[in-house]
Amino acid sequence: MNTTQEPLIFELSGEGRVGCALPKSDVPHYQLPAGLERDALDLPQVDELTVVRHYSRLSQKNYSIDTNFYPLGSCTMKYNPKVNETAAGLPGWRLSHPLAGEKYSQGSLELIYKLQASLAEIGGFKAVSLQPAAGAHGEFSGVLMIRKYLLDRGEAKRTKMLIPDSAHGTNPASCAMAGFETQTIPSGPDGNIDMKALKAALDDRVAGIMITNPNTLGLFEKKIEKIAAMVHKAGGLVYGDGANMNALVGVFKPGEAGIDVMHFNLHKTFSTPHGGGGPGAGMIAAGKTLAPYLPGPVAVKNRGQYGLQMPDRSIGRVKSFLGNFGVLVRAYAYILMQGKDGLRRIAENSVLNANYLKASLEHAYVVKYPHTCMHEFVAMGDVAPGIHTLDIAKRLIDYGFHPPTIYFPLIVPEALMIEPTETESKETLDAFVEAMLAIAREAVEQPQLLHDAPVTTPVGRLDEVQAARYPVLRYKA
Ligand SMILES: *Cc1c(COP(=O)(O)O)cnc(C)c1O
Repeated sequence: MNTTQEPLIFELSGEGRVGCALPKSDVPHYQLPAGLERDALDLPQVDELTVVRHYSRLSQKNYSIDTNFYPLGSCTMKYNPKVNETAAGLPGWRLSHPLAGEKYSQGSLELIYKLQASLAEIGGFKAVSLQPAAGAHGEFSGVLMIRKYLLDRGEAKRTKMLIPDSAHGTNPASCAMAGFETQTIPSGPDGNIDMKALKAALDDRVAGIMITNPNTLGLFEKKIEKIAAMVHKAGGLVYGDGANMNALVGVFKPGEAGIDVMHFNLHKTFSTPHGGGGPGAGMIAAGKTLAPYLPGPVAVKNRGQYGLQMPDRSIGRVKSFLGNFGVLVRAYAYILMQGKDGLRRIAENSVLNANYLKASLEHAYVVKYPHTCMHEFVAMGDVAPGIHTLDIAKRLIDYGFHPPTIYFPLIVPEALMIEPTETESKETLDAFVEAMLAIAREAVEQPQLLHDAPVTTPVGRLDEVQAARYPVLRYKA
């Protein structure tokens, strides 16, 4: 995997080494106010080649979708087409200034307007706001919209949000931040929402429900329309977590199934770069009840001119300027490149790839909810006595694959959540299957190998809790 030569020492600085020679300063000396001046700055002293090698080496330690298969369930780590980068890098976008004003930003506003319209059409919604910067940010904005709508109707007592036990952890967190309490709705034996439990929870304190569809078991909520109708009848609203839209684009429109407000992750379904804390986009779409409450401003078109407008009952801004504009350009380029038929093929092939992997692995790894899956499925990693999902995941790294999402969703013990996406070839999927089956054999024959994994990486198994709680960010004391 990592064939780069490691440097023998970590400290690369050497007294007197410089990367470039600056001319003698011709700026008059300025005396800094007392206390601001330092005699010496403890910066590394390195030559240019050492710096280039250092950063090149570091960059090669990164695992990325451009280097290897990344079956991280629920995250839709699909290929990010390079043409998106070309589009986002066009000088007209790249050099535009957020304070240029509407008159000088007609092109940018047109793109925003058309992307809003495309996403509304794809989801079957009335209106879209591109403001939120991530899926969780979209959820938070959406539940704030629900809260404002209920307050407008004088229904302050509706403070309870229903959340299925298969939901992403961000759902209850968004609710709590928006001032709602949450009530968990269990899943039935088929992996769908338990309708009896839902019915029992629908009282006059219900503000709404947050539904992920397909859910995090990779299963389609078959009764989605019925669920939406029941919640509406009880006076609540329906939030759709659209992070898993990769299974549905071009096939199913959530807005037509009774979802009132929903976020899409442009960095999942619409191929914009993902992870590393970079800029994302978790746009939200709303049907006619909640459209006036969308965060703004949103792009509008009046007599051939594009402009910005706050929706009537808007919850306000949730992001500076127009969101992460470069990401929006990438998503729009992707949608234009796919067209209607291409979008449908994304859903079809992502479902096909996931079912191919499921069928190839389920004789070795138990799949607790064995129904035909959508874009992902959840297997179990306890394939031999004393072997845990963590061991399987770590051993996969030795085989050159990014591990799947593990220990999530919580309703499957020893969960391994696998999502191949539509962009992988059959050869890649077969290589992954071969690695997974080899690991299942190793689990029986050489369990210690799995407990020690990974063994091919610069560092072995880390104490992840310790690393997260007490990160050591400097190598010097
Ligand atoms: C990824 C994901 C989210 C959160 O999206 P972020 O962009 O990571 O904030 C929410 N729900 C589900 C089901 C997800 O997979």
